[in-house]
Amino acid sequence: MTFATLGLIEPLLRALETLGYQTPTPVQAQAIPAVLAGRDLMAAAQTGTGKTAGFALPLLQLLTMEGPKVAANSARALILCPTRELAEQVHASVAEYAQHLPLTTYAVYGGVSINPQMMKLRKGVDILVATPGRLIDLFRQNALKLNQLQTLVLDEADRMLDLGFSEELANIYRMLPKKRQTLLFSATFSDDIRLLAGQMLNDPLSIEVSPRNVAANTVKQWVVPVDKKRKPELFVHLMRKGRWKQVLVFAKTRNGVDALVDKLQGLGINADGIHGDKPQATRQRALDRFKSSDVQILVATDVAARGLDIEDLPLVVNFDLPIVAEDYIHRIGRTGRAGNTGEAISLVCADEVNMLSAIEMLTRQTLTRKMEPDFEPEHRVPDTDASGQVVKKPKKPKKPKTSGGGGKRNLGKWVDSGEAAPVEPSIKPVRKVPVFNTGPRKKK
Ligand code: AMP
Repeated sequence: MTFATLGLIEPLLRALETLGYQTPTPVQAQAIPAVLAGRDLMAAAQTGTGKTAGFALPLLQLLTMEGPKVAANSARALILCPTRELAEQVHASVAEYAQHLPLTTYAVYGGVSINPQMMKLRKGVDILVATPGRLIDLFRQNALKLNQLQTLVLDEADRMLDLGFSEELANIYRMLPKKRQTLLFSATFSDDIRLLAGQMLNDPLSIEVSPRNVAANTVKQWVVPVDKKRKPELFVHLMRKGRWKQVLVFAKTRNGVDALVDKLQGLGINADGIHGDKPQATRQRALDRFKSSDVQILVATDVAARGLDIEDLPLVVNFDLPIVAEDYIHRIGRTGRAGNTGEAISLVCADEVNMLSAIEMLTRQTLTRKMEPDFEPEHRVPDTDASGQVVKKPKKPKKPKTSGGGGKRNLGKWVDSGEAAPVEPSIKPVRKVPVFNTGPRKKK
């Protein structure tokens, strides 16, 4: 199968040739004809499967082939993304695919001044990529009208709900014309998402390119059990031993990101961090420098790293396991993309055993454990398996303590006495399901 046989027009085929896309990925093969035929779509596709082109290519074609010119302060298609980084990235892809088309594209998101965005919208844009909060601001300030909107794309819909955007989505839903095409993409499909889809979509075609909630099988995954306090030391040890060149590291909290970056930089390691507290420009710069290999280690929280597309990333390290098991799939989806192989290593301490068990249950696999010599944990990580069982072995009787507190002998410079590992209270966002006005939808 080729992109031409899917019915794409010549300017798009030319752009794909420049990008080196030869064969459609499975999600593209299914989504492109359905979207061109005007269908609503509910697609379960992992990151790295090519889903962006799956919706963007047919969308660009429909906008080129049909519909009036975009009016002032209007958009003909809207792509909603959960984070600024993802909005930027999706916009960059859309702009590449659209390079030979007479269409305008633009991305808006919070954390930067709204005025230039309002100016830019004056002439209208064909495709607008937006995060939910900024979109609502622009709408309320009359900088954007949505009555000309013909297509809505919800990208990473599960993450939008996880981030607490359910109210914003309900508000946006009320702003939209009833007659429209809606495409919903999500790496994982919870019951909340299915409910949202039931309200937003009209007779959607369901696409599932990989089994539900199964992690990318191009990624070699394993776990290294370790005591919480020795994680930074183990990370540096593994980095040096494996001669890691480019690693994306996930930490649970913003403080955790900062603490690890400080420690790595203190050792002269070329590291940077991204999280939600950093200004957008700083985050983008760190990401660009990581992509161009000027930064070797990028430490990120889940929110900041969501959906980032970094070509040929060989390795992802979970310095902390994610609180939400589904994030594990998103994290390791940063590697093993577009047919490449990758590795995902998780440093797991005894406190995280329930998270490990939840991940194994979700991904239906028991992750291989590799004990690192000299880092065997004093606090054993209980056995787990894909059934969700945590097997707690009876504790061994404690040896009498010798003087000198042997427990900290290997901590080196990483842990001052009284310093806790980088942990702050983990607040899981409350998942709210939007309540939509479910009046009858007009038939298209
Ligand atoms: P996505 O899942 O949309 O984030 O895409 C993941 C990566 O795969 C991106 O770097 C795309 O540029 C790349 N990609 C998408 N579709 C194709 C294709 N058909 N052939 C080669 N690379 C692709």
